[in-house]
Amino acid sequence: MTNAAQADSTSDILFYDSLFIDGEWRKPASSDSHSVTSASTGQVIGHVPVSTYTDADAAVAAARRAFADPTGWATWHPTERARALQRLADQLDARKEEMARRVSSQNGMPYSTSINFEAAVPAGVLRYYATLAEQMPTEERRPGVLGGTSLVHRTPLGVIAAIVPWNYPQTLTFFKLAPALAAGNTVVVKPSTETLLDFALLSEAVAAAGIPAGVINILTSGRGLGAYLVGHPGVDKISFTGSTAVGREIAGRAGQLLRPVTLELGGKSAALILDDADLESNAEALFIASLLNNGQTCFASTRILAPRSRYAEVVEFYKTLAEGSVVGDALDPATHIGPMVSSSHRDKVVSYIERGIADGATLVTGGPRSDREHGWFVQPTIFADVDNASVIAQEEIFGPVLSIIAYEGDDEAIRIANDSEFGLGGTVWTTDSERAERVAKQVQTGTIGINHYLPDFAAPYGGVKASGMGRELGPEGLAHYQNLHSIYL
Ligand code: NAD
Repeated sequence: MTNAAQADSTSDILFYDSLFIDGEWRKPASSDSHSVTSASTGQVIGHVPVSTYTDADAAVAAARRAFADPTGWATWHPTERARALQRLADQLDARKEEMARRVSSQNGMPYSTSINFEAAVPAGVLRYYATLAEQMPTEERRPGVLGGTSLVHRTPLGVIAAIVPWNYPQTLTFFKLAPALAAGNTVVVKPSTETLLDFALLSEAVAAAGIPAGVINILTSGRGLGAYLVGHPGVDKISFTGSTAVGREIAGRAGQLLRPVTLELGGKSAALILDDADLESNAEALFIASLLNNGQTCFASTRILAPRSRYAEVVEFYKTLAEGSVVGDALDPATHIGPMVSSSHRDKVVSYIERGIADGATLVTGGPRSDREHGWFVQPTIFADVDNASVIAQEEIFGPVLSIIAYEGDDEAIRIANDSEFGLGGTVWTTDSERAERVAKQVQTGTIGINHYLPDFAAPYGGVKASGMGRELGPEGLAHYQNLHSIYL
């Protein structure tokens, strides 16, 4: 059975004919395949087999066998697992450029972003959890309040179904894989069908790292297979990142099954630009906070809250930022804004721009039409005079579209920031650090950044309200993959 992709002799199309299950490349149950396209050109760039329910059963069974093996992964000393995670990190490092290229060509993420995120975060987060799991005791003896002692014993949960979206496919997979594996669980990963070629490369890294058979299994199909996994009797926990609508469905099913679930969902975060903010020296950080990955970023601060006293200046700043951004092929290192992931997603973003215009917001720059002949491009678009109650200020657009909303005083900025269904990220921009913390503490979200935004491996990451349940990263993220077993001595 072939594992490596075979290049077409007349083009660079990658063909995979096998699935990575139980530590080996296996023929799938069906001969159907997914065509993967380039977001920048619209051309087919690869074929990956469709995974069926039969393949999912095989993957879950392999993960179960690996978990239940009396001398296997779950029973290993954390140091031994840490060594395996370090080896996987090394194998990922060896594939950095190729990983960045594959992600960028599929989902439109500018190469300058994918090389720093998709090609780097997975190894970083693996090394973080390898070290943390070695340091964190799995047993703690606690003196009892009613006499005696309790032994609090942390055990892995079992088989984890990790369901991930296309926007940061590798980073978000490793937010789940790294703590789940470090804690001793085994995993079935189901990516989005838009981004499958990067998972084929990941499978090659897993095989090369000598991760035991069945510990990591990868399924390549869409929503039907995701729903099948959520209800699969062999799955012990669901870890999902994706849209709020799908998160609600999964939460409903998990509720019926009483199956643990972590949900990382959508967002509509606010950038609170306070009246003393230094825009010019923070231009790059402001771009990253709101327009990273072409706006296809869950935590993006897409509602820009501007003080009335500096409103015109803020609008002008964002106009210049958008117009100065290089829009182009995602693989070009000079590109700041690449295409949307698919034609249907491009159409959805464009329809939001049309809705903003129809609802009376002022179009400052950009608009619904792109002059590019190929690919799923949307111009970076800035709206001013936006009402926070309007559709473009309340719904997640997931593209390079920002809404500038006026406010008077910090209290009103905080009120507007919190007037949202979502509660994922956010940013505060000010030169006064005490004021920044005072304001940040009142914004009802899972995370918030001051004069920048970047999740850190050591701090819990996640959302409140319609942005999700549970946390990833930090020791808290590890705890989500452990059962607490109290033994009253
Ligand atoms: P999506 O919800 O459509 O799909 C996500 C994953 O779920 C895919 O693998 C998909 O195949 C699968 N899926 C779809 N329907 C399913 C179902 N009924 N049961 C089980 N699995 C199902 O999301 P998307 O369009 O791929 O990603 C974009 C969304 O993800 C945005 O809303 C974004 O904000 C969110 N997101 C959140 C975070 C976070 O950390 N909070 C990070 C990235 C993206």
